[in-house]
Order: sequence, then structure tokens, then C-alpha cells
Amino acid sequence: MSKQTGTIGVTTENIFPVIKKFLYSDNEIFLRELVSNAVDATQKLRTLGSFGDFKGDLNDMNVKVTVDKEAGTLTVSDHGIGMTADEIEKYINQIAFSGAEEFLEKFKDNANAIIGHFGLGFYSAFMVAKKVEIVSLSYKDGAEAVKWECDGSPVFTMDAAEKKDRGTDIILHIDEENKEFLEQSRIDSLLKKYCRFLPVPVVSGKEKEWKDGKYVDTDRDNIINITEPAWTKKPSDLTREDYLNFYHELYPGQDDPLFWIHLNVDYPFKLTGILYFPKIKNNFEINKNRIQLYSNQVFVTDSVEGVVPEFMMLLQGVIDSPDIPLNVSRSYLQSDAAVKKISGYITKKVASRLDEIFRADRADYEQKWDDIKIFIEYGMLTDEKFCESAMKFMLLKDTQNKYYTLDEYRTLVEAEQTDKDGNVVYLYATDVTAQYAYIQNAESRGYDVLVMDGQLDSHFIGLLEQKLEKTRIVRVDSDIIDNLIQKESKKSVDLNEIERSILTTAFSSQIPVVDKANFLVVFEAMKESDAPVMVTQNEYMRRMKEMAAMQPGMNFYGEMPDSYNLVVNTENPLVKSISRDAEDTLKETVEPLAKTVADKNKEISDLRASAKDGKLSDEDQAKVNALEAEVDKARKEEESAVKEYADGKEQIRQMIDLALLANGLLAGADLGKFISRSFSLLK
Ligand code: ADP
Repeated sequence: MSKQTGTIGVTTENIFPVIKKFLYSDNEIFLRELVSNAVDATQKLRTLGSFGDFKGDLNDMNVKVTVDKEAGTLTVSDHGIGMTADEIEKYINQIAFSGAEEFLEKFKDNANAIIGHFGLGFYSAFMVAKKVEIVSLSYKDGAEAVKWECDGSPVFTMDAAEKKDRGTDIILHIDEENKEFLEQSRIDSLLKKYCRFLPVPVVSGKEKEWKDGKYVDTDRDNIINITEPAWTKKPSDLTREDYLNFYHELYPGQDDPLFWIHLNVDYPFKLTGILYFPKIKNNFEINKNRIQLYSNQVFVTDSVEGVVPEFMMLLQGVIDSPDIPLNVSRSYLQSDAAVKKISGYITKKVASRLDEIFRADRADYEQKWDDIKIFIEYGMLTDEKFCESAMKFMLLKDTQNKYYTLDEYRTLVEAEQTDKDGNVVYLYATDVTAQYAYIQNAESRGYDVLVMDGQLDSHFIGLLEQKLEKTRIVRVDSDIIDNLIQKESKKSVDLNEIERSILTTAFSSQIPVVDKANFLVVFEAMKESDAPVMVTQNEYMRRMKEMAAMQPGMNFYGEMPDSYNLVVNTENPLVKSISRDAEDTLKETVEPLAKTVADKNKEISDLRASAKDGKLSDEDQAKVNALEAEVDKARKEEESAVKEYADGKEQIRQMIDLALLANGLLAGADLGKFISRSFSLLK
């Protein structure tokens, strides 16, 4: 052919400065584009071969990436179908742009979008090159080799070339600002990132070996990819080992995954992949960059928001679909109908696989439950559809380490744990050691206690309450057990006013000062054998605080002191004897004082009642003030008498301290006092 010169068919003045300027941040993807083109060309020839339309040699079909630092070139070579001059004219020279500028402006931060929109794969080379050459020999009989050259202006030249073997070389003359792409190590790491699972072997440099104290090149080609990654195979052709090996290939240095789901769908879209449930060790972090997205084995991205449901961000593995419109912006991706379907499909598939594993081997599933629970709870909390399916294979674990489905658990506790209003009450503990005494108490009544110590459990309990009808879910230490599950037969507290007043002061005067905690003395007629004193914390208040702690900017609740109830069991013999003794000792002092308080209060209210229009005369106001002072004085006297008595009763302080101790609320000097008191009581 004779040399020819022409202008690339673009409507806008000059696309190349635009490519360079707008695509700069993502410019490394040029390599992905060029290698993918080379792989496509190779596979096309293979296809032709398999149909008998090409009868030549199909050996050595590798794609090769060569860095020549001295010449300043990076070359991508293949032995694929090649291009004739006509084909270059058709596929390379004619790029149809319409409304190009507008589009570029809109997507200037998204190279994928621009490249995809214009089918600009090849031209992305100009992001890093000042000049690009194509040297190609088509597979067609009698084809002539051709060389195309362009320096980044819309002007190109095309000429005959010397090339003996079939295929295409794309030669990039790397420009000054992009010298990094002349480093073998940079190229290797890019190939590892984007081309690791391409279906045709990709060669980059030579394999190295350790010789005389350093790494040296061997004469073996260094192939950087695995051409048949596990996800492209049939599940029936894969062993457990294969799945594990592939996992470790993807994520070196991780523990074995718990299990995996092989995705394989042809209709209504094509999608393959393998999703792994990783073993999350200690820290629960939502790492959003874990599942890798591929399009025909070409790596596209590892930020998969919008493509997989949010909760599956915790999973790992790969998804490969040529149907995901990859070359578009993320917001477009999320609104895309096909993507929505894919996300829905993955959810369904994951749910049904979990269901399958649950049914097939319950023991194994239970064994893994503690590890997979976080995925399932997260899924149920964030995805309505998944929640629906998961209600069947969601497990609850109790303090006996037994696992139940939601239905099974209902059956287990319904008879014993239904309260007088017909609600089934689920009891749970968040810390089986710390809440031991409360669990014991519940179990002594034949109740079951769940373990809810997961990181999402406090949210999850809220969800369960919404989903389960006529069910209350309460922490086992949020009240005394007979209040948590109230039965008709509950005994009422048998104290007269004086007794109540004496006991209240006797106990409240002995509560040590605990940092950030308030205590309110309350009385309950529990079982005789129940502890004399217990500390409980209201479920609602505690949840408010817990929720606040998880939300930034809610410090107001976080800073508030915890309110506890100090519950005194009036049926306990120890309390009974103290109450009797206190009454006997204090009756003579307290009764007259109480009478004074009552009498004066009566006078005050009489005066108030007689006031005209609710307004006291100055004279009456003075009387009221004097009476109030007397009431106050009598109260104080009563209080100090009771306190003096209680101070001398070590048992009271001992009972309180024991209750605090059971909740981890006794510390420092108070704990020290408790210990020495305990020793002296042994004497
Ligand atoms: P796309 O690959 O999206 O079609 P490109 O700009 O990357 O867009 O390539 C345009 C066309 O040029 C390809 O469709 C193909 O026909 C041809 N082509 C590019 N690279 C090669 C190659 N290495 N071998 C043969 N043909 C190629």
C-alpha cells in the first residue's frame, strides 16, 4: 500500500487533549484496555479456529507486554486476528462522536464512563503516550502488514509495514509525565490488578530466580495470570480444595472462609462468581472494598456498592458479568434496572444457599453460626427481602449453648414465659459471666435465657420485636424476674407506711457513691429464696443509652448517669428480720416524728385550702413557712435516727455491697471496705 494520511473521524476539534486532561486520574486503565483488546483478538481467532474458518497455527497465543526503558516504549503484542488497513480505517479511524464535549464535561471524573461511552478503549493509550503505533498483520490469506501512527493530533498516517507473524503490536511512546509506566514493577502490579484472571496467558518480563545473592531473569516467560479461575468452571468440577485455593489466591494470608456460594446464571442476565463468607476475627469493620467485580475476566473495580446488596459488602470473592454496565458512573450503576435485578438475584441466591446449608447439615451450620451470625443479622437489618427468607434459618443461641430457629424457640418458651397479658417474654443476657446471678434466677424458675452478645444484637433485638407478634424481649437484669414475666399470682409487698419509710432510709443511707450511677430503693415481694437485694437497670433507659453511644453527636444521653433500681426483697428472711429489728428499735423515735410530720402537713394543707383565690395572706404564709421548717426538721431527725441505726447494722451494707458486686459496680475504697467487713463477719 502507499502511504496515506488522514484525519481521525471525530466531530469535535481535537479529542486527545480532552482525553489527557479529563482522564488523568484514572489513566492506568489504558493498560487494561489494550490488554483486553489483545485478548479479544486472540479469542476471536480461537473461535474462528474452532469453526474451521482458520486453519493456521494456534500455538503460542500469549499476549505479551514489553517495557523498553531506553526506547521509552511500552508494547502490547498479540497473535490474534490482526487488522487489515481497511479494518484499521473502520475500527480505529472512524470514531463517531456526537455531543462529545457535553458528555465529557459531565463525566470528567470518570474515565470508565468516557471510555465506555465512546468505545474509546484503544484511544485511552493517549492518556499516557505522546505517540502510538499500531503494527498489524491480519490472519486473512494474503493480508499485508500495516502500520498506523498518530501523535495525538487528529492526524494519522498509515503505511505498509514489515511484520512476519500474525497479530498486532500496539506501541506506546510514553510521554514525559507518565514515565512510571516504563517501570517493569509498575506494569507488573497493574497487570496483577487488572489482568490477573484473563482467559489468555499474559506475559510480562521473565521469571526471576535467586542467584549469587540477587534476583536475576531466567529465560522463561513470566506469565502473570490464571486463565481459568475457579468461578469460570462448573461447580461440579471443583473440589473443596479448589475453592479454598482460589480464596487464598484472592486474599493471601486470611483464615479459611466459612463457606462459599457459587453463582452461575444465564438468564435474564449472565453472571458468574463465587462469594465467600470470611471468618471475621475480632474487629467488626465494614470493609467496602472486598468483592471484586469483573467483566469477562477483566478486573473492573473492587468498590461494588450498588451492585451487591449493602450487607454483602462483608462477603468476599468475585462477581463477573458482562451485563453490568461497567463503563458508567456509580450513580448510574445504582439506578440501572439490570443492576437492581442482579443485586436482587444475589440476595435470593445467598438466602437460598444458606437455607440449603442449614437444612443439609444443621450441626455444621450451628457450629459456624457464631461466625456467620453477623452477616445474617446485618442482612436482616438492611434488606427486607433477605430478612423474610432468613426468618427460617436465623438461629438464636441460649445460655446452654443450644441453637433454635425462631419457630423452635417460640415453642420452647411459650408455655412457661407467657405473661399475664399474653405476651411471650424472651429473656436475654449480653454477658453471661457478668449477668450470671440474674440468669440463675431466671433459670431457677424454669425460664430460658438467650445470649445476645453480638455487635449488632442491640439493633437486632429491635428488629425481632417488630417481626414477632405478642413478644417482648428484655435483658435478664432489667428488672426482677417476676416483673419481667408477670404472672397473675404475683405477691404484693407487705409493708406498712412506717416500715416502708424506715427501710427506705435504712437502705438508701448505706448505698456507696458510685461514679455515674444513681440508685433508687424499691421493694418487691420476690421468692423467699431469692437474693435479699438486687440491682436492676431499666431496659428502655439502657437501650437509649446504648443507641446514643453508637451515634456520634448524642453525647447528651451518653453523659447521663445510669439509673439503677436497688431492689429489696421483702420476702427474704434476712430483710424480714432487719425490718422487724429496725421497727422494734426505732419505733419509739420514729413514730412521734412521723406523727409530727403528718400533723404539720395536715395543718399546711388546711391553711392552703382556706386561702382565698389560692393566695395566702402574709400571716398565713408565715405560718406555712414555720410549719414547713418543722416538717423538714422532723424528717431530718427521723432520717438521721434511721441512718445511725443502719450504720450500726453491717448486714445492710453487706447485702447492698453484694448486690453491687454482682453487677461489677463495687470498686476502690468501697470494695476494700467490703472485703475487710466480710473477713470480720467470718469471725
Ligand atoms: P472496543 O474494544 O470497545 O470496540 P477499542 O477502541 O478498544 O474499542 O477498539 C476498537 C476496535 O479495534 C475493536 O473492536 C477491534 O475490532 C479493533 N482492535 C483493537 N485492538 C485490536 C487488536 N489488538 N487486534 C485486533 N483488533 C483490534
